[in-house]
Formats: sequence, C-alpha cells, structure tokens
Amino acid sequence: MTATTDEAPAPAAPPPAAPAARRDDHLPDRREALFALGGGLLGALVALAGAKALAPGAPEARDDEEPLGAREARERLVEGNERFVAGEPLHPDQSTTRREGLAEGQHPFCAVLSCADSRVPPEVLFDQGLGDLFVVRSAGQVLDSAVLGSLQYGVEHLEVPLLVVLGHTECGAVAATVESRRPDAEPTGTDIDALVAGILPAVEEAERFGAHETELAEVAVDVNVELVVERLKASPVIAKASTLREVKVVGAVYDLETGEVEFL
Ligand SMILES: [Zn+2]
Repeated sequence: MTATTDEAPAPAAPPPAAPAARRDDHLPDRREALFALGGGLLGALVALAGAKALAPGAPEARDDEEPLGAREARERLVEGNERFVAGEPLHPDQSTTRREGLAEGQHPFCAVLSCADSRVPPEVLFDQGLGDLFVVRSAGQVLDSAVLGSLQYGVEHLEVPLLVVLGHTECGAVAATVESRRPDAEPTGTDIDALVAGILPAVEEAERFGAHETELAEVAVDVNVELVVERLKASPVIAKASTLREVKVVGAVYDLETGEVEFL
C-alpha cells in the first residue's frame, strides 16, 4: 500500500516551464481584498493579519528559477519547523498568485518521503507551501517501485538538491511490525503484510543493537529511517544524479509531541 503525490511521474516529459516570480507572503492579496472591500472593520482585521505575515524572521521569497543548494534547502526546512514548533507559522507560498504562477510548472527545493500518518504532513510541520516540497508518503516510509520511482522523478527531472526521509515517533507501522514478531501473531493476509516485511529489517537490526523490548519500536524508528536513506543512496538514478550535481539524502525524525524535526 503506497500513497504518492498526485504528480504522476512522466519520465519522458520535458522540463517544466519556469513559473512566474514568486510572491511569498499573504499581504499583497490581503491588501487587494482590503481595497476591494473599501476598508471598514473587516479590512482593518485583514490588514492586521497581513502585518503579522511580515513579522521579523519571515522567510525571504524564493526565486524558483534560482535552485537552492542542499544546505540552503535544509536551512529552509529547519527554519520552517522552528516556526511551526513555536506556533508561529507564516504559511508561505499559499497565495492565489503563487498558485496561478505554478500552473506552468514546478521547481520544488526538496523531496520528502514521510510516513502516511495523518499527524505528519510535511508541508505543515516544515511551514512550506505550494510548489515547495515534492512529497511522497507511505506507511513507515516503506519503499516499493511506485515510491522509489516517484522519488527518482523528483531527483532526476525536478532536480531537487535534497531528499529527506522523515520518520516519526509513535509510528503505528513500526509498532505493528514489532507486534508481528510475537509468537502468536499471524499474517493479516492483506497488503499490510508487505509493509511489515519492509520494516522488519529495521526491527531486527534494532534488536541486534541491543535495544530492549520496551524501547525496540522507538529505536527501530531511527534505524528504519537510516536503512531507507541507505537504500535511496544506492538507487542507480539517485547515485548517478549525485555524480552530476549536488544531491543529498538525509534522514530525520519528527516528534509528535513537541513538533520538532531532528535531523539524524
Ligand atoms: Zn508512521
């Protein structure tokens, strides 16, 4: 069972056209709305909300036509996560102008493979918007050909400089895999068994590391991320892209409770 983005990979597709220049914050649109409404209390409230969007620390507008390096891409994620943790997200790149500009093509600065868990939406926890992240999700970040092909498309055709494998605490898929090893456990007979099989090597390796039963799932979350990172690095398309330009594959774990993303 996998869930990919709605961007169907099309290997033979030509490079997407450059979108119009980005207008990053919400303020211009809100000002337009204010003028259209002719002011008044509603307008004042809208202006106040807009002013908050320009608070100190607001991310600089990213010019899609100027590719970021892996280090800059990671900084953008770290800063966005800090805003999210602080409860001060700026919701960049979600204006109507941004949306319309992106209709011509996409230039995301990072690909993310995250768990399908509803509590781990990458755009929200990294405080990013439209056209920023090329996201592929599957329970437990398990790789299959559809997931791998989607990520390869992001690296080869969209030329993202950074690929993040994002696990999370309290991952149900990892916990189910730990449970599946109990003597009385039986296969479900569904495609969920394939997920368990995909995560099993991480649980076994966590056990070899000496993880106690009570912390096995917690350790396996980290190990699972690291194993997926290694498999992606070894994938021919990503390995080849790495020889031509900078492509970094890194692991990270999201803490459900604090909202923090820790890069491994
Ligand atoms: Zn999960």
